[in-house]
Amino acid sequence: MSKYGTTHTLIEYQRVNIKNVKDVIKQSHQDSVLYFNYTHNGKSYNYSVRLDKTACNYGGNRYWYVCPKCGRRTSILYCAGIYMCRRCIGANYESQHNRERDRLIAKRNKIASRLEWMGHFAEIGQEIRPKGMHQKTFYNLVCQYRILEMRISKSFGADLEKLQKKIERLSST
Ligand SMILES: [Zn+2]
Repeated sequence: MSKYGTTHTLIEYQRVNIKNVKDVIKQSHQDSVLYFNYTHNGKSYNYSVRLDKTACNYGGNRYWYVCPKCGRRTSILYCAGIYMCRRCIGANYESQHNRERDRLIAKRNKIASRLEWMGHFAEIGQEIRPKGMHQKTFYNLVCQYRILEMRISKSFGADLEKLQKKIERLSST
């Protein structure tokens, strides 16, 4: 239902692996770019991705995509509108995730201001109905407020979990 709090996985993204185009690159004489032409979410894209090659220890070349966003060498590109590397898709997801949360917070604050709750925390069961507000409207807003509150903390929880994992990874090395 909601995408908040779910762990971000790269599986959700369409990808292209350099392995799959390696033979095409070898056959073509101009091996420095690859043309991308596709439609994603109803929008059409047409651009070229630079290619790079490095010499292998055992002879021959290893081919790489050059990420159109950051210019780093990568063997897999992921589609987020334009194709980009793993790092860039992470940053892309992060900003989307933050934008979504900001939107939820703004929505919650709007309801809080209608309830005249700004600046103080209303405990469950202790909600004060503003003077003149219809009972039904009041319950409706309280319900929306609680749901938003839950979604926001879930979103922060997901970030905390990620941070925790990062710390564990760092301390185990
Ligand atoms: Zn990149």
